Amino acid sequence: MTKPAHHLKNMLSRIDGKGYKAYKDIQGVYAFERFTLLIDHVQGDPFAQPSRLRIRVDRDKSGFGPHLTQSASRTTAFSDWLIRRFAKAAKRIAKGSRGSGKGGTILIDTPGQQILERTAMRVTDAFIEARFFLGLPAFGRRIAGRDASEMLMKELPEITKLALFCNRKNQKESDGLLRHITGFEDAEALRRQLKEKKLVAFVGNGASLARSSGIDPAPLTQGAVLFEPPETLAVTLDRPNGGPITGMGIPEGVTLIAGGGFHGKSTLLNALELGVYNHIPDDGRQWVITRNDALKIRAADGRSISGVDISSFINNLPLKRSTTSFSTENASGSTSQAAAICEGLEAGARLLLLDEDTSATNFMIRDEKMQQLVSQEKEPITPFIHRVRDLYKEKGVSTILVMGGSGDYFSASDLVLRMTDYRAEEVTEKAHTIARNTPQKKEIATLSPLPLIHHRAPLPQSIPMEERRGRVKVATYGLHEMVLGKTRIGFDDVEQLTCPSQTRALAEAVRLAAGLMNGKRRLEEILDAIEEILEKEGLEALTDILRGDLASFRRLELAAVINRARSLKVL
Ligand code: ADP
Ligand code: MG
Repeated sequence: MTKPAHHLKNMLSRIDGKGYKAYKDIQGVYAFERFTLLIDHVQGDPFAQPSRLRIRVDRDKSGFGPHLTQSASRTTAFSDWLIRRFAKAAKRIAKGSRGSGKGGTILIDTPGQQILERTAMRVTDAFIEARFFLGLPAFGRRIAGRDASEMLMKELPEITKLALFCNRKNQKESDGLLRHITGFEDAEALRRQLKEKKLVAFVGNGASLARSSGIDPAPLTQGAVLFEPPETLAVTLDRPNGGPITGMGIPEGVTLIAGGGFHGKSTLLNALELGVYNHIPDDGRQWVITRNDALKIRAADGRSISGVDISSFINNLPLKRSTTSFSTENASGSTSQAAAICEGLEAGARLLLLDEDTSATNFMIRDEKMQQLVSQEKEPITPFIHRVRDLYKEKGVSTILVMGGSGDYFSASDLVLRMTDYRAEEVTEKAHTIARNTPQKKEIATLSPLPLIHHRAPLPQSIPMEERRGRVKVATYGLHEMVLGKTRIGFDDVEQLTCPSQTRALAEAVRLAAGLMNGKRRLEEILDAIEEILEKEGLEALTDILRGDLASFRRLELAAVINRARSLKVL
């Protein structure tokens, strides 16, 4: 039942000075002059997670026209823009810390450089709804009613006015909004063109790839060298809003990025890794577009592996351990990398991204001298170099890899790029000539055929969901760690996650996935099922309660997390 706003005000003055629990009374729905306030959940004490609130504005009254949501991509980008606007307004208007604990804060799940679908804002034809967190203020554990009143009755309406209503007088802002949504729409269109043109990635002319620092994802401002496509790789793609755009097209196949140390190889690869997402207009990488089945592969020794067929890469292990269904509690660099590739293919990855900086050398290459010292029968590893061509030819799986320390990949590559002073050149001919003129004593590669992509069916209880007081504990810590019941899953090596809200959503998705594991359903089918739920009902389908801190993720990351659960058992 919707109550008038002054009821809230009266209630706050009535409970002023009382014990914190009395705040529970304000849960409910209130009609303000220009919006509806929904107080969904009131925190138990001032130090707990802040309370969950929503503000809903009628779409008609908001002044934001229907063109902003005429497609699903526009809606995603417009919602993202509103979240950022809300965050800015909250920062400006909310007084901040009041009294004890988290009192005084008004927070929304604020995005970074990427534009993702998020639960923090929902926009429909009928309304705009912001979902945010508010720390109800207290002195000690006593309700600070007057402060609460100031926050709810003054600060919130002010923030709402700035964040959720169109300001027609601000032309600069309107232009920014249009750029935000049309840019997103264009990026989606470019990604669709990649497949038609048999490209795996595109780097737009003038892109700024370098970041401000190792911990700051904002673009480098001083001394950034802007990207120029090598002439031979220049392609022009079409944008529905921005018109044609020229850049470097990386074709399907095997691409090697070579070049001296510190010349920008990894920076280019990192940009391609994140090119599966769309970026904000001034990111610098907004026209770096990668197919969304691209998976970064890196070594992660120490991780667990459950029943993965890594026989394409590893055979003849000591003590005749099986590698067609390989399990370990403690992988080596090379076995972890082999497993990551096989698991990735199982989940649908069709473009592999590898960097020498984070690869196991013995997985990537074995040189001639080592072949003489260690006979092939005693070496379990078939290095990636012997598989990379077949992966493409037989399975249609492309690879982009960074390798500055060895020329062994020259002959295996369809395309060789060389980075010099952050500039890319195409040097395929040259590299192939060098490879021809430097005969290698070739390993008599008695290669087994590349096995088909292997599918596994996780057993029930693979990720046990112990309940406590009728609920499964689901918690996440930063980007790379989650706890479900008593199961802790760490996934530091999953590099294409960009935001803790993705990890929170992933944790809920893993919980759902665990419920689908019955020893018959293949992991692939479980991923399909979750993807279908998300497509139909959106991220909100992941939780029973409405929460504004979830962001979208890919099935490849969901698979990666499940695969790193130490309790996973498969058939
Ligand atoms: P590599 O992998 O070739 O050793 P990196 O990609 O790690 O080199 O880049 C080395 C340094 O150069 C990093 O500090 C990076 O931020 C910076 N850098 C990379 N690309 C550019 C660029 N286009 N303009 C300016 N600085 C760059
Ligand atoms: Mg590097």
